[in-house]
Amino acid sequence: MALAHNLGFPRIGRDRELKKAQEAFWKGELDEAGLRAVGRELRAAHWQIQKNAGIELLPVGDFAWYDQVLTHSLTFGVIPERFRAHGDAKPTLQTLFAMARGVSDRCCGGAHAQEMTKWFDTNYHYLVPEFSADQPFELSWEQLFEEVEEAHALGHAVKPVVIGPLTYLWLGKTKGTDFDKLNLVERLLPLYGQIFRRLAAQGVEWVQIDEPILALDLPQEWKNAFERTYNLLQSEPLKKLVATYFGGLDDNLGLAAGLPVDGLHLDLVRAPEQFPTILDRLPAYKILSLGLVNGRNVWRCDLERSLEVLRHAHERVGERLWVAPSCSLLHSPVDLEREDQLDGELKSWLAFAVQKCAEVALLARAVNEPQAPEVQAALEQSRAVQASRAASPRIHKPEVKARLAAVHAQDSQRQSPFAERIVKQRAGLNLPDFPTTTIGSFPQTSAIRLARQAFRQGKLSVADYTEAMHSEIRHAVEIQENLGLDVLVHGEAERNDMVEYFAEQLDGYLFTRFGWVQSYGSRCVKPAVIFGDLSRPQAMTVAWIKYAQSLTSKVMKGMLTGPVTMLMWSFPREDVSREVQARQLALAIRDEVVDLEAAGIRIVQIDEAAFREGLPLRRSDWGRYLDWATEAFRLCASGVRDETQIHTHMCYSEFNDVIESIAAMDADVITIETSRSDMELLEAFEKFEYPNEIGPGVYDIHSPRVPGKDEMVKLLRKATQRIPAERLWVNPDCGLKTRAWPETEAALVNMVAAARELRRDVALLG
Ligand code: GLN
Ligand code: ZN
Repeated sequence: MALAHNLGFPRIGRDRELKKAQEAFWKGELDEAGLRAVGRELRAAHWQIQKNAGIELLPVGDFAWYDQVLTHSLTFGVIPERFRAHGDAKPTLQTLFAMARGVSDRCCGGAHAQEMTKWFDTNYHYLVPEFSADQPFELSWEQLFEEVEEAHALGHAVKPVVIGPLTYLWLGKTKGTDFDKLNLVERLLPLYGQIFRRLAAQGVEWVQIDEPILALDLPQEWKNAFERTYNLLQSEPLKKLVATYFGGLDDNLGLAAGLPVDGLHLDLVRAPEQFPTILDRLPAYKILSLGLVNGRNVWRCDLERSLEVLRHAHERVGERLWVAPSCSLLHSPVDLEREDQLDGELKSWLAFAVQKCAEVALLARAVNEPQAPEVQAALEQSRAVQASRAASPRIHKPEVKARLAAVHAQDSQRQSPFAERIVKQRAGLNLPDFPTTTIGSFPQTSAIRLARQAFRQGKLSVADYTEAMHSEIRHAVEIQENLGLDVLVHGEAERNDMVEYFAEQLDGYLFTRFGWVQSYGSRCVKPAVIFGDLSRPQAMTVAWIKYAQSLTSKVMKGMLTGPVTMLMWSFPREDVSREVQARQLALAIRDEVVDLEAAGIRIVQIDEAAFREGLPLRRSDWGRYLDWATEAFRLCASGVRDETQIHTHMCYSEFNDVIESIAAMDADVITIETSRSDMELLEAFEKFEYPNEIGPGVYDIHSPRVPGKDEMVKLLRKATQRIPAERLWVNPDCGLKTRAWPETEAALVNMVAAARELRRDVALLG
C-alpha cells in the first residue's frame, strides 16, 4: 500500500484569516484569546480539508504565528538577550512578535527585529536565528505539543514536522565573537531528544525532520555532521522521515540515503533525475517518500506521468512507498474553489493546495487500487487536461514562437560598444558630472491608491482617472525641477506593483483573486500566472512617459520591469523552460523600449530587482542561469540606437558572485543599493573593473530618516576612490513609493547638494 501524506499546508487561511487576525492583534483590536481562537480554527479546518482530500498522515507544526523558523528559535530558547524578559519567565506571544517585528519602546529603548531573509529559493522569508558562542538551548515553547494534542483530540493521525538540527543551525548566524556554529550541534541535539520523547509519550509514531540543506553544496564538515547527528538521534524514539526539497541531492544522495532514519523524502518535481537512482541506494528497510505534486506552482499535476514513476517505485520498494507534494504546500495558494471569476478552461488547468492534497491522495490510491472507478475517472480527466493545454490556441501562439525562432545573435547586441555609445549619449543628454536621478517611484499617497482603486471598480471614468494620474505626474515633475534633479521620472503613480502592472498588459498572463501566498509574517503576495506564450498587444507606458516628458525640458527617464524579474515574481509555466519564457518577455519589453525611443524618450530604465535571487541553489547550475538571464536582458535592451541610454536597477548589495554577468548585461548605467553597506559592495566593482556607469545608492529608502548632505558626500567620495568620477551617478538605493513626501523632498535636497559638492571637488582638482 502506498501512503498519502503531506509535508505542510498553508497556514494563512483561504481568506487570509491569519493575516487579518495578526494585524488586528497588533493594533490592539483583537485580544490574545481571540487570536489564538483564529489559529485553532484554521488548524482544525486545514486538517479536516487534508483528511477529506485523502491525506492519511497530517502535518502538525506547519502552523506558525509568524514563521516556522522563529517558532523553532522559541522552542529551543534561542532568544537574543534584547528580547529576554527579566528573571526566567518563559517567552510569550509578545516575545515572538517582538523578535519578528522589533519593539520601539517608550521606556526601555526598544529592540530591533531579527533579520529576515529568503527561505532557499522561494519568496518566503524566515527570521534568521542569532547564535552566541555560549548559546544555551532549553525547551521553551509548548506549541508543537499543544497542537499535537489538539489534532489528537480531533481524532487525527498526525506526523509532527520539525526543522532538522543541521538545517536549523545552517539558517542562523553567529553574533559576537566569531565561531563555528556547527559546534553548537552537540548542545542542540539533546533538545531534539526531549522533543521526540515528549511526542512519543503523546502517542506519535512518525516525525518529519526537514533537512532541505541536503539539496545545497555543503562543506565537507557539514556533510560529516549529518552522519554523526543522526547516529546520535537514532536512539531517540519515533520513526523519522528526513525530508529534502527544492532540489536534487546529487553528491549528498548517498549520504542522505544512508542516514540511520526510517524514511527519506525526495523532491522529484525539481529534481526528477534522482529517480530511479535512489532505488539502488535506498536501504531495504527504509520508507521512500516521493514528492510528485509540485508544491510551488499552481498547475494541475500530470497524474499519468507521476503514476508511471510511482508504479516503477512500487515494484521495487512495495509497501515502503509514500506519496507527497514535492515540498510543503506553504508555497501554494490555498483553494482554487475560491476563484469564482476565472474562466472554466483556465481553471481546469490549475490546482492550489487543497486540490494538490487530492492529487497526492489520488496517486497513492492509483497504486493501491488501480482499477477503482474513481481512479480511472481521475486519470481520464488528467489526460484530458494535459491534452487540452497541449493543443490550446490560448497557450500556443505561432506568431510568438516564430518571432522567437527568428531572433539572431545580433538582436541582443547594442549597435556599438559602450565606449562609443557613451560618447554619443553624453553629447545628446548634456548632463553634468555626477548626474542626479531617482529610481522611479515617488510616494504612493492614499489619494493615489484610492484613485487607482476607484478606477478598477469602475467608479472613476478613464478621463477622470487619466487626469488624476496626470496631476500626480505634474506634481512629481514640478518637485523634481525645483529640487534641481538632472534626470527626472514620472513617479509610477499608475502602478500597483512593478510586475503586475506589466503582466496585466501582456497576453499570456492570468490573474487570480485569492491566490495568496505568504511572503513573511502577515504579508502575502498574489503572483500573476504565466499560462501561455507571451506578447505585448500594445504600448504599455508610452502615453504616461510622453506626457511627463512634455512637461519638462529635462530628460525624462522611461521606466520598465525587466524579463528576469517579471518571470521570477510570477508563477511560471511548466510546459516550457524558464529560459523560453524569459525570452518571450524580453521581446515584449523590447517593443516597449523601442516605442519609448520613438516617442522621444532618451533614457529607459529596465529594473531587474530579482536578477540575483534567481540564482540556482547549486553553484554548478549558476552558469546556465546567468547565461540565459543576461541574454534575456540584452535582448530586451538592444533594440535602440546608441544615443538612447539604457539604465538598469538592482536593489541589493551582493554582487561579488555575479559581477561579470552584470557587466555582460551591458546596461549603460546601473543603479544599486550601497548606502547600508557603506559602499563596501563597490569592492566587487573595483576588483572586476566594471566598465559602464554606476549609481551607487547614497541613501537608504527603507527608513524615514533623512540623511544629511555630508553623510552622502562622504559616501560619494568613498565611491570615487573605486570608480572613476566621470562614471558615477547620484541616486537613492531604491524607489521611494513607501516613503512620504516631506522626508523624500528633504532627503533629495541634501542629495542634490551632495552632488554639487562633488562637482566642486572635481572642478578644484581639474
Ligand atoms: N522602479 C521601481 C521603483 O522605483 C524599482 C523598484 C525595485 O527595484 N524594487 O519603485
Ligand atoms: Zn530597488
